Parts: sequence; structure tokens; C-alpha cells
Amino acid sequence: MSDCIFCKIVEGKIPSTKVFENNQVIAFKDLHPLAAKHFLFIHKSHTKDIVQMMDSDPGQIKDIYQSISQFVKDEGMNEEGFRVVTNLGAHAGQTVFHTHFHVLGGETLGRFGK
Ligand code: AMP
Ligand code: ZN
Repeated sequence: MSDCIFCKIVEGKIPSTKVFENNQVIAFKDLHPLAAKHFLFIHKSHTKDIVQMMDSDPGQIKDIYQSISQFVKDEGMNEEGFRVVTNLGAHAGQTVFHTHFHVLGGETLGRFGK
């Protein structure tokens, strides 16, 4: 999608600090980290949020979680512990409308909610 910043990251048109890539998925460091380790996992195919992703191709969620699983094992984060978060819409504060999964860790995290 031409005006989507995460599609531009996939296409290499804007820079990112890439930490993982395979044929379907790319992951990079969040520009404004909220934890010692904060990465964003996205599918290379554009959808705007998790509901649209599930409606269009539910297999993409498997691609994402397989990538996260491989990555956290390589990083040792599966032993330390980590959190996966996806925001949808205004109440959750979604700011980028290309489905993405925050992977947070590297330290003890606060509880989430309000
Ligand atoms: P959300 O609020 O769930 O939509 O998350 C969007 C996230 O994207 C935020 O945590 C931003 O810090 C992050 N972000 C926005 N632009 C970039 C970028 N160019 N590179 C890396 N992370 C970004
Ligand atoms: Zn996109």
C-alpha cells in the first residue's frame, strides 16, 4: 500500500533496524521502545489490523507466530519471558494501520490495562 509506512519498510524505502526476515514476515526495532527489548513483527502483505488479517488470510497469523517463536528462541527471550501485543483502533491507541505485533521484553514488564 503506497502511503503505508510499514509497507515502505518492507520495500526498503524507509530505513529500519531489521532483526528478523523470512519470505512472509519482517521484524524490526520499534522507533520509540517501551521496554528494553521492543520489536515489531509484520506480515509483508498489507492488512490494516488483526480483524482484516483474519478475514483475508488467517494463515498469516501462523506466519507471524512462527516467526516470533523462532526469533525469541534465537534471542533467548523465551527463557526470560516476553509479551506480544497488537492494538486495534482508537480505544487501543493504534497509530499505524498495517497489522503489527509488538514483542516486548528484556526486563520485567508492568501489568497492562488502563
Ligand atoms: P501502535 O500504536 O500499536 O499502532 O504501534 C505503532 C508503533 O510503531 C509505535 O510503537 C511506534 O513507535 C512504531 N513506529 C512508528 N513508525 C516507526 C518506524 N518508522 N520504525 C519503527 N517503529 C515505528
Ligand atoms: Zn502496509
